[in-house]
Amino acid sequence: MRSPADRILDVRTIYHEREVPETARGAQVLARFPDAERIVVPSHQAIPELYGNAGAVDDWVRNKRSVLVLGTKKSLATRPNGRSADFIAPSTSNGCAMACSYCYVPRRKGYANPITVFTNIEQILRHLERHLGRQGPKTVPNQCDPVDWVYDLGENGDCSVDALVSDNVRDLVDLFARLDGAKASFATKFVNRELLGLDPRGGTRIRFSLMPERMAGLLDLRTTRVAERISAIDDFVAAGYEVHLNLSPVVVHEGWQEEWRELLDQVADGVGEAARRQLACEVIFLTHNERLHEVNLGWHPRGEEQLWRPDLQEEKRSQNGQTNVRYRAAWKSRWVGQLTDLVEQRLPGCRVRYAF
Ligand code: SF4
Repeated sequence: MRSPADRILDVRTIYHEREVPETARGAQVLARFPDAERIVVPSHQAIPELYGNAGAVDDWVRNKRSVLVLGTKKSLATRPNGRSADFIAPSTSNGCAMACSYCYVPRRKGYANPITVFTNIEQILRHLERHLGRQGPKTVPNQCDPVDWVYDLGENGDCSVDALVSDNVRDLVDLFARLDGAKASFATKFVNRELLGLDPRGGTRIRFSLMPERMAGLLDLRTTRVAERISAIDDFVAAGYEVHLNLSPVVVHEGWQEEWRELLDQVADGVGEAARRQLACEVIFLTHNERLHEVNLGWHPRGEEQLWRPDLQEEKRSQNGQTNVRYRAAWKSRWVGQLTDLVEQRLPGCRVRYAF
């Protein structure tokens, strides 16, 4: 039987910056995929045959499966957040081998979106430890966490899949296991049981992303099935992770409330007492993007019938001049209320950390 790694990755080409093989992490990843062709590039961002090449839309999924990029994260900055986490940690990767059609990461990266792994992990770990040292203890509880400063790790990818490629995620879990007053956090749509072998000691929060199975089948391409994500929750809690739910994106369509009710019942039936005691969730309704819509029409038009709904959505100009769409404000605020009510009814005790 194929392992999850083999199902999702078959790395044939590795683009890497010149100095990568001399770094311990770079050498480790190269050794993990010994048969891959290696191509030296001046920068992980400057790969014309991958990025900004409209023709690559035909190779959208093939690139995700067969290409890796290795480079150095040049500028290390931790940014304030305040929604799901107090801070966004510097990325140790970006891109993803999965292919959710609403994913915003390709908006930033160009047409192709394979995994880029940053190999200067020691520098990133030192940066995080210093950043935490400057904060002092958290004295005011907030929606992110009552006691710990929360650092989001996986803003531009999926850490569970990244952990198949390198030990960056293991190093981060180890770091937050030993740091007092801080917690790492990442959302995921992939069940990587190798992570159960780590020792997080409560220092890492995994947020399993869930949406109703029918819609996930259409939009969450290459991910772990929703039922399997739910049935993994107890195991991750037993292994020492905090486990929350990331209910997103909520895609509105005829009958969406009924599907979400069923999903929440699936969670209620599938999760044990220990997990229920610590459970919380966040709810995020879909936003979409005009350029991504155009790219998606080239490889997955059926998904766009659900994601691109001008009859329900309104435009919002983003800071970088792109046209985003979101559900019309008045309707959306009613729908947010309906879904948070459903969480309260079907999963009593599951705190909604935020909903928008
Ligand atoms: S799992 Fe996350 S990062 Fe990966 S494609 Fe889906 S939304 Fe994007």
